[in-house]
Amino acid sequence: MDNSNAYSVNPPLCRNYADRFLVFERGEGCYLYDIKGNRYLDMAAGIAVNALGYGRKDLAQIMSRQAEKIIHCSNLYSTVPTLTLAQKLTAASGFDAVFFGNSGTEANEAALKFARIYSKSRKGESAVAYLSFESAFHGRTAGALSVTPNEKYQKSYRPLLPECHTAPFNDIQALESILNESFAAVIVEPIQGEGGINVMTTEFASKLNELCSRFDIVLIADEIQAGLGRTGFAFASAACGLKPDIITLGKPIAGGLPLGATLVKAKINDAVHPGDHGSTFGGNPVCCAVANAVTDTLFHPHFLEEVKEKGNYLTKKLTELKERHPDSIAEIRGVGLIQGIVLKDKNPAEIIESCEKNGLILLRAGANVLRLVPPLVISKEEIDEGTAIIERVLSD
Ligand code: PLP
Repeated sequence: MDNSNAYSVNPPLCRNYADRFLVFERGEGCYLYDIKGNRYLDMAAGIAVNALGYGRKDLAQIMSRQAEKIIHCSNLYSTVPTLTLAQKLTAASGFDAVFFGNSGTEANEAALKFARIYSKSRKGESAVAYLSFESAFHGRTAGALSVTPNEKYQKSYRPLLPECHTAPFNDIQALESILNESFAAVIVEPIQGEGGINVMTTEFASKLNELCSRFDIVLIADEIQAGLGRTGFAFASAACGLKPDIITLGKPIAGGLPLGATLVKAKINDAVHPGDHGSTFGGNPVCCAVANAVTDTLFHPHFLEEVKEKGNYLTKKLTELKERHPDSIAEIRGVGLIQGIVLKDKNPAEIIESCEKNGLILLRAGANVLRLVPPLVISKEEIDEGTAIIERVLSD
């Protein structure tokens, strides 16, 4: 594969980006094509976004039809696609209301703000603390960053929000010793994506449910990466028995268009008043029109069954890989089509680069984990192809 000229070096983009990019031109199904025409199997899906794959003419058509009707009207008014999506999300989740933003981090900002409104109304002005967990990732805006206890992301931006506490993930004793009435919210990923594909245990979920209910703390499930079908369940909380008061969604919801959603239970919605929070573009009708079609597919029981089956197949293939490469792979972990390969002494950045040269796109998670979050429409043959490339690279 010759992709030597398919890279752009430090273009006039802000320095927060990488200084070298692989430049893609188009995609089809689970494959991406760079500007030289090289083909790559994509097991990253634009960081867990492109659930239905590339080149979707049906979604493009919905987008363009809606754009011809109305692209934007502000949140002083509403549109049919936005209201329809709100109905769909509440019906599928059993939640009572939805706030729409433009991204995952904004979905979490809304969740954190609503939790404080609720908590103050129930427990008084001082019940404002937040708890999040080691290795969590909740976003880059100031509030979400304050509950993302990662030195790399936080260090340049202190002081962040006060009253943000951290506990080890999946540690029941630590949870029992830290939580009390002074907390407004616990925010947690049912499966930590960025942090290393760490799966919440059912025991930890059950303790979270119990303690949040005992102290009237708002339990926020950040399902931005693991939600909307990726686990084989419509909502990732269901995979571990978590019973949140708020679910935040983003990434795949609008087929690659920017949209975030914060699903809230009635008790929280009842504490919120007009003007308490807002967003100019949130719930944009073009994004919502596409999201209606995407969620129709993602919530379909048959589609979810297929994700479970393909997830099991991927786990089996990766477990076999681990057995054949015990010196390279320490562990395989994940649920459905969010899987991690925990490396032993290998450098994940080097493996990812070699995979790229061999026509496979992968992601990193945590310090030493290869993250696989392919489009949910991936086939078993494509899973075979991807795992074969990983094996070839590990064998080099
Ligand atoms: N929460 C989780 C679990 C995520 O994985 C991400 C993004 O990777 C976010 C929040 C932030 O989402 P966004 O980048 O859309 O703001």
